[in-house]
Amino acid sequence: MSRMPGAVWRPVVNAHKNGVLEHRGLVLHVQDGNHSPYGYFNNPAKQVSSDFWVSTTGRIEQYVETGVDYAFAQHLGNPYYASVETEGHPDIALTAAQVEGVAHIYAWGNSTFGWPLHVVDSTTQPGLTWHGVGGDAWGGHPHCPGDKRKAQRGRIISRATEILALETDGEPSIDLGRLITLTRSNLGAAQGHPAYPDGARLVEGALHAEGLLDNISTDGDFECLTITAYAAWQRRLGYEGAEADGVPDHLSLAKLGRRHGFTVTA
Ligand SMILES: [Zn+2]
Repeated sequence: MSRMPGAVWRPVVNAHKNGVLEHRGLVLHVQDGNHSPYGYFNNPAKQVSSDFWVSTTGRIEQYVETGVDYAFAQHLGNPYYASVETEGHPDIALTAAQVEGVAHIYAWGNSTFGWPLHVVDSTTQPGLTWHGVGGDAWGGHPHCPGDKRKAQRGRIISRATEILALETDGEPSIDLGRLITLTRSNLGAAQGHPAYPDGARLVEGALHAEGLLDNISTDGDFECLTITAYAAWQRRLGYEGAEADGVPDHLSLAKLGRRHGFTVTA
């Protein structure tokens, strides 16, 4: 999953293949100009690009395989954060349509990569940050995206949170704590398992649909085969070694839920 539904896909040459190292979040930029930067980003002599661009009318263009390849937007920050350029100038606030567009990008990044739903002023902490905070190491653009746009990041996050809640409205939810207790009791030799049939069935149904689990038990247990299948799901997401132990964790369960219609509560 590296292309965002709803964004216009316009791949450019200025991208580093398989260069992404971490999914820390998104960096807000200002274009300091108008009209799509596609031609500029697709010119190898320029060595400039971004993951996304949002026009003043809310049009979203995507230029690289976000989360896999990185764009040339914030120098040493490129392997760690995705980037969004916003049409217009640093002394002018984002339009409502732009706030909405960036919020949709962030909501997609939250469900796809686990970008946390908060604002940071940092080059290391996960969240929605801004270009200038990186100083010279990030290319030396202290006035990108400008104070007005920086101040709109809180609104972008709250709108992204609303978008995610609307998308999952009415879906069943799984209590992660109960599921973990159930899984651990099955890994141990304890007599008499704590039952959580609703949660276990949702997860088993999802693992079955992913082709990782042949048989779905009906007793609400979280059996060895289910734990093995869950570990395979974790490995599919890139978990390695002891990380893929088959015990559900928030990120892997939330990703499974996004694909199979359930949400996760702590
Ligand atoms: Zn910038």
